[in-house]
Amino acid sequence: MYSAEDIIAQINSPNEADRNLVKKAYDYAAEAHKAHKRYSGEPYMTHVASVGYKLAAMGMEPRTVCAGLLHDTIEDTAITSEDIGSNFGEEVLFLVEGVTKLSSVRYYGSDRHNESLRKLFVATSQDIRVLIIKLADRLHNLETLHHIPTHKQLRIAQETLEIYVPVAHRLGMGKLRKELEDLAFPYVYPKEAKRVTELLTTRFGKANEMLERERKVLQKRLAEVKLTNFHTSFRVKGLYSLYHKLKRKDWDIQAIYDLLAMRVVVTSVEDCYRTLGIVHELWRPLPKRVKDYIAFPKPNGYQSLHTTVTTQNGVILEIQIRTKQMHQESEFGVASHILYKNPKVSDDPKPSMFSNLIPTLFRPFTKREDEKETDIKSIAETPHTQKIPLWISQIGQAYNHDSENPTSDFVEDAQSDFFSSRIFVFTPKGDVVDLPVGATPIDFAYAIHSEVGDHTFGAKVNRKMVQLDTELRNGDILEIDTRKSAKPSPKWLLFARTSLARRRIRSAIENDPENQHKHNQHGHH
Ligand code: MN
Repeated sequence: MYSAEDIIAQINSPNEADRNLVKKAYDYAAEAHKAHKRYSGEPYMTHVASVGYKLAAMGMEPRTVCAGLLHDTIEDTAITSEDIGSNFGEEVLFLVEGVTKLSSVRYYGSDRHNESLRKLFVATSQDIRVLIIKLADRLHNLETLHHIPTHKQLRIAQETLEIYVPVAHRLGMGKLRKELEDLAFPYVYPKEAKRVTELLTTRFGKANEMLERERKVLQKRLAEVKLTNFHTSFRVKGLYSLYHKLKRKDWDIQAIYDLLAMRVVVTSVEDCYRTLGIVHELWRPLPKRVKDYIAFPKPNGYQSLHTTVTTQNGVILEIQIRTKQMHQESEFGVASHILYKNPKVSDDPKPSMFSNLIPTLFRPFTKREDEKETDIKSIAETPHTQKIPLWISQIGQAYNHDSENPTSDFVEDAQSDFFSSRIFVFTPKGDVVDLPVGATPIDFAYAIHSEVGDHTFGAKVNRKMVQLDTELRNGDILEIDTRKSAKPSPKWLLFARTSLARRRIRSAIENDPENQHKHNQHGHH
């Protein structure tokens, strides 16, 4: 199990206050979870310590690391929001509550809701750090998935591929995405995973040795031309991503050219192009395989030069050339922009895909006077006219592996005003209902079932009784109390927003003998 010291050691130059905060959160979590065990039989603390460690290793700042350590306290222990707030402050509390709320987002194995779920997932998280904590949480749960009862494994793995992987992809977190995919893949597609693994091992049983040999050749050549400040590494294509490609290529592994990739990380863009020239001089490039993602980045912000070559030893290799910054971004995506103590973050001279995000990431933390519960301005409260950040509208876009031309989808999606007009709320079981902005519990009741709507007596939002005209907000959890004797009132028409609800209310009123009388008296206004 990771110790508090292990975690602190991963944080970039922590000061005394940082150390104390992380240590305090660690001890607090250990105490809170002391009676709990994981399915593996290990102390529950191993889980939250891993999540904290992963976040620190990604370069997240100490408060996010703390929230990672505390992320399961409110949901799984007697610890309350007030406890977290008074011990760790509003910001840590906000993050922990955000993660807690996200746990009610559930995948029920039907494609119907996936797109809504992805969007909801992002919309309710409100702060990118909440998503990053949730992704780290999911990664550790997948790493330990073999301990979990079989019937739960499939749901968790499926949910990962349908919801978490696209989110990680859209956030540009390539490393995390690959890890999530390859961990979930064998649970969702056991036969296919076996087939892909076999194909890969037959073809590249000794891939690492071979790649190491080619790497030395390239290193030597780069040194000869006095390109000294560079770093090389290699990777074998992820199983899940290979599976998608194999399906498109009739399972012909020979037709896949990016199985093996060599990465060259250099210091400047100029060196990237120079290195490309050197590579092409050294090894024969395949036609039409040169891609300049530096001049033309991928929609999720990915930048690199790609080329595919055949080495003297007859190995087909994809070469990826990029700067250190591009490398950071391709591995950690949006997280690479909120690295702890990165003074360049806000005045980065190079505009990047993520730069429009920065203001929302560092949005000052505000608490509303009129509310006891912690709440920062939610998406539902933002005025309709306010522009929704591009990346949010991208997130629901169908996940497309190495899509040949993702640009059209991307533009279409970016123009969608989905978020400015819809909110998502939950049933107590975690089912998602999407409603127009301004919707009230009456709209929710009719969306569930007309019988529920017709007999609505009262409503609870987030477990508190509310008036029926209460405006709902993203992420609210709703319960409707029904009574046989309850029936639609003409007043409901003043605050029902959906046409479905309004239609039902009108017809119920017209068919109600008691209201016939009133109608006759007052007529229709
Ligand atoms: Mn957890």
